[in-house]
Parts: sequence; C-alpha cells; structure tokens
Amino acid sequence: MPELPEVETITRELRPKIRGRMITDCVIIRQDVIAHPKPAQFCKAIVGEKIINVSRKAKYLILELGNKKRLVFHLRLSGTIAVIPLDLEPQKFSRLVLVLNDCQLLFNEPRVLGRVYLISSKERPPILKGFYKLGCEPISDDFTTDYLKARLKNRKARIKSLLLDQNICAGMGNIYSDEALFRAGIRPLRRANRITNKELEKLTKALRDVIAEGISNFGTSVSDYTRTDGKNGNFQNFLCVYGREGEPCKKCGTKIALKKIGNRGTRYCPKCQH
Ligand SMILES: [Zn+2]
Repeated sequence: MPELPEVETITRELRPKIRGRMITDCVIIRQDVIAHPKPAQFCKAIVGEKIINVSRKAKYLILELGNKKRLVFHLRLSGTIAVIPLDLEPQKFSRLVLVLNDCQLLFNEPRVLGRVYLISSKERPPILKGFYKLGCEPISDDFTTDYLKARLKNRKARIKSLLLDQNICAGMGNIYSDEALFRAGIRPLRRANRITNKELEKLTKALRDVIAEGISNFGTSVSDYTRTDGKNGNFQNFLCVYGREGEPCKKCGTKIALKKIGNRGTRYCPKCQH
C-alpha cells in the first residue's frame, strides 16, 4: 500500500494541480526521507526548477523537472501526497515540503518508510536499483498470458509471492494480488509451475481487471491511503477477500481464510480457490 491504482490516482489528480509550476523552496523536515542525493544537494538541485509533468512507473510517483531531472517518490506503506494553499502550515506527518508558485506539495509519511530520490537522465543510483528492473505492469499491452507464463516457468515459489515480485508484476501489491487470485479461482499457496495454461489465462485477465477497476475507483482506502484532496478511494467497497478474513465468501458463503505467505497476510476462499 499504496499499489499501482493508488499511485495512478495520485498522479492523475496531481498533474493538473502542479504541472507547469516552479519549485520556489524546498523544506526537508525529516532528513532520512531523502534517499538520493544528500539532503543539502537535493534542495539546491531542485529549487528554481519547473515541474514539466507528473507521471508514474509501477508504484513510483515521478515529478519530471526541467534539465531532464526526475523526482521519484516511493510511497511504500503509508506515504501520501497533499497539495495545500501557501498560507497553511505543513501537516502532522509532513516530511518534505515543496513550495510552488501558488501552492505547497507535502510528502506525508507517518511511518517514515517512504523515500524521495532525485535522478538525472544518465544517473542510475544503486540505492534505486528496483526502479530500473521493473517488469511489465498488468495494465500494459505487453502483459499477456505468454509473458506471465514465461516469467513463471520453472518457478516453484508460491504464486502469491511471485505476483508481488516487481520484476514480474510491476505495481502489484498485497490487496490486488489477493483479489486477482480470488477472481481467477487459484489458491495463493499453489506452486507457480503447477498452474495450468487455462488458469494462467484467467489470472492474466483477473490481474488486468482488478488493477483497472482499482484505478477507476480511485484506489483502495483501507489504512493510510487518501487521495490528494484527503478523500478516500472507493475500491475497498468491492473487495472480495482482502481484509475479509472470517467473513463469508461473496460467492459461496464459506469463511474467508487468512494465511501468511512469505510474511504477507494472504486471504482466500478455501472453497472457490483451488
Ligand atoms: Zn467462496
């Protein structure tokens, strides 16, 4: 959390609010959220730069600046972005403030796990390694059954763990992977190499559908995630398994089970998923 649909929602809402604005000041409230370069260099490098565009790659939010520099936000578990008027004070968990011409962008992160990176076009800082190794996103045209089949071939790990692997399913996280496996009727504990072609076809479609529906519902608000105006997303109202352990399955009435897989809480229906 937040996963691809939440970061996509933030990107879409942020773009019209900040595109074309200039960064006039940078206030780092918690030094450790600035992962690259050093905090002092970070501010110097971005003040005076214009925000050309707002984009997204997997779960990373990107502010594209002049000089081909990019500000990359990794929101991790609880990072959110808020845009507030110039005359308001930062909020309780604000870790970084970017002052723009006519508003302020706040990076709020209660758990201080989220990070911000400033990279230039040629630079590939090792600390941001995962960003350069991302696989296909489930909503991209390249994410086909053949793609998934090739990536899962000979893999004995449990399917749930591999769906969370950003080299395979970029942007995927715990919520949408549980939901996709439910829709595809596949038990999250299954070994990836034992999943049939027919099931892989269903899974490809399910992954694509849950991500697309998550986006059209402005994301899922179950813990810290809010939209840039502080409102909740809407997809939590459509979840079939995530957060529903012990409750009846919406299809068959069986109690939804909860198991730890690779240290991640995983929910599934013991009857509908095989
Ligand atoms: Zn069921």
